[in-house]
Amino acid sequence: IIGTIKVFRDITAERAIDKAKTEFVSLASHQLRTPLSTVNWYAEMLLAGDVGELNEQQRKYLDEVYRSNQRMVELVNALLDVSSLELGTFIMEPEPTDICLLARSVIAEQQPEIIARNIVFSLTCDKDVSLMQADPKLLRMVMQNILSNAIKYTPESGKIKFSIALKDAKNLILKISDTGFGIPKNQQDQIFTKLFRADNVRDKDTDGTGLGLYIVKSIVENSGGKIWFVSSESKGTTFYVTLPLDGIKI
Ligand code: ADP
Repeated sequence: IIGTIKVFRDITAERAIDKAKTEFVSLASHQLRTPLSTVNWYAEMLLAGDVGELNEQQRKYLDEVYRSNQRMVELVNALLDVSSLELGTFIMEPEPTDICLLARSVIAEQQPEIIARNIVFSLTCDKDVSLMQADPKLLRMVMQNILSNAIKYTPESGKIKFSIALKDAKNLILKISDTGFGIPKNQQDQIFTKLFRADNVRDKDTDGTGLGLYIVKSIVENSGGKIWFVSSESKGTTFYVTLPLDGIKI
């Protein structure tokens, strides 16, 4: 070695452009919510027969309108979450939270899907787990996302296990394992990136935005926790989340 060269580059302008783009996404998603809610509202009224009975074909088409609109609402909400995380305007409001109770309510919400797919589901909540200082709204989002993925990416009659326990004196650990499609080895390093969806699930015509795990990772890491997974296409996937028991550091 006869010398080194150091290169410095001012990235202030790039950062400003990036911020402006995120603000634009935030504004656009926000504006899109109102018309989408209107479509939702009227589609629900029509489906409920409020202005007369629909024939079979009309119902079928309207059902499609309704479901596509729901997907759009989900996407817009996810974009809003992503932009507030990136702009740092995501507010964390920690309070004493019963995580097992929260998990049960998340599961109850997704029970219709679990039943429809004939999935064998189990929840174990360690009795040593008590109230923790956390933002229930954000923890709910974390559990909802990981659990709905496990359900969505597990074929009928598969198994899902959800457990909550103490990892050590300072951390809680959530473990959600499924016997589903798994994540291809060569794409595992991209799973937490924005808008990424693995080939094997895209081929199966499953719905998704590719934003869920990006949001989950940001929430977990902003809370002082960690998230990782172990997956194989033959056995399925297990997601692990650790969270500090002494609460979210703001
Ligand atoms: P999506 O809306 O596509 O589910 P996510 O960000 O939640 O977006 O997940 C990103 C990708 O990670 C998914 O598209 C899928 O390829 C993969 N993935 C996540 N969870 C699982 C799982 N439990 N089993 C198999 N693949 C999964």
